[in-house]
Amino acid sequence: MARPAKAVINLAAIRHNYRLAKELAPHSRALAVVKGNGYGHGAVEVAQTLAPQADAFAVACIEEAEQLRAAGIDHRLVLLEGIFDPSELPKVDQLGLDLVIHSDYQIDALLDYTPRHPLNLWLKMDSGMHRLGFSPDAFLEAYKRLHGASQAGEITLMSHFARADELDQPRTREQLELFLRFSRALDLPISLSNSPAVLAWPETHQQWVRPGMMLYGASPLDRATATSAQLEPAMTLSSAIIAVQHLKAGDSIGYGNRYSCTRPTRVGVVAMGYADGFPRHAPNGLPVLIGEHDKSSLIGRVSMDMLTVDITDIDDADVGTEVTFWGRGLPIELIAEQCGTIPYELVTNLTPRIPRLYVDCSNC
Ligand SMILES: *Cc1c(COP(=O)(O)O)cnc(C)c1O
Repeated sequence: MARPAKAVINLAAIRHNYRLAKELAPHSRALAVVKGNGYGHGAVEVAQTLAPQADAFAVACIEEAEQLRAAGIDHRLVLLEGIFDPSELPKVDQLGLDLVIHSDYQIDALLDYTPRHPLNLWLKMDSGMHRLGFSPDAFLEAYKRLHGASQAGEITLMSHFARADELDQPRTREQLELFLRFSRALDLPISLSNSPAVLAWPETHQQWVRPGMMLYGASPLDRATATSAQLEPAMTLSSAIIAVQHLKAGDSIGYGNRYSCTRPTRVGVVAMGYADGFPRHAPNGLPVLIGEHDKSSLIGRVSMDMLTVDITDIDDADVGTEVTFWGRGLPIELIAEQCGTIPYELVTNLTPRIPRLYVDCSNC
């Protein structure tokens, strides 16, 4: 038997979630964000399943874009941080990529280069995130440098929200107002909304939305809403019990003996560890599913290739029994919260050692 750890990815869920983004933003086109290997789901597989319905895709760097072009994706494809260095421009031109422009050095490089075809540009304003983009005052100046340049194709104006996941926060509306104040005069397409804004801030949708996490079915919001409840989780991470230990009260388990048994305890040793990307800091008591629907919990520290779960109360759990960590039957939002992180980090941390198995199943 092969090592049983695996991530089963339901492509039908990803298509459903993209469709949901389009229904929530019916007047917008939607960039499907597949950076970070499709948030750990496999960028090529995700892009291929979305290709018939997707308006365009977005990635973080040229290497990710090349992978999609090599797989036959010929949609508009946006580099979300643009170029890092002028030497990338020939490849950008050859692959026909859209560029985010967030800094003057990128405009300098572009104006120094003669592409075969004009490049579509996404000019970014920093409206309060303070990470990438031109300040509102510098934004118009940057636009003037690009406007009319032979290198520039279609120009879209963009910005990014810092707190769209927080439903009671006024910051998103303030960023929107600031952005519109400085961009309205240009009368160009606008793109602002990440997943939380697609789900919860309809006034931000404009001409292009940029859903990422929601495509994979995890809610980015700080609490569930009617829209987030319609997401379908795409990934189920599971493995199986490979050994069973019968311990006495007072025995303790694993590195650092972090968990001491308070009663006679049956322990399932499961083939899943931090070399798979499972969080090492997962706490005692983290929920897991044993078999189809028995709830139990992690006990003891996660090690590199294994972890341990309590199966004392689950009589039929034995070597070979499946253990599920998130996905079907166990929301990843809950697991992320208990591990002190967010679903984004859990899914992108999964290493290549976890085989991704693809299913296409509309009602499972
Ligand atoms: C990653 C990214 C997104 C998608 O964010 P989600 O919260 O995953 O939807 C959108 N816009 C930009 C600029 C990004 O870098």
